[in-house]
Amino acid sequence: MTQKRAVCLNCIDGRVQLPVINWIMGHHKVDYVDMITEPGMDGLLADNNNPIEEINRKIRISIKNNNANMIFVVGHHDCRANPVKELVHKDQILMAVKRLKPVFSEMPIKGIWVNSEWKIVQL
Ligand SMILES: [Zn+2]
Repeated sequence: MTQKRAVCLNCIDGRVQLPVINWIMGHHKVDYVDMITEPGMDGLLADNNNPIEEINRKIRISIKNNNANMIFVVGHHDCRANPVKELVHKDQILMAVKRLKPVFSEMPIKGIWVNSEWKIVQL
């Protein structure tokens, strides 16, 4: 059976890695999650003044070399690199998804929020 893989754009914060990986693997039947991290990834992607070519390059490697077939964008509670309110985080996650869509039009791209109980909410 072919292995399925997701590529995930996440914060560097160690508290969110396992909850995000476990949730993606449990809910989307993927065998592996490639993780691309930046401090405050959601805010970084949402800010059009921030170039994201380097992140896109990494996503492409995950797609081409590892056959990733879906993309996740993560924002999380108590993000010290991007200390904005929950509503702003959720907006940023959706803006990030919108920004990536034309670049990776062949891929499903989903935004997820990690809440104060470290539980995942799909946006
Ligand atoms: Zn963070």
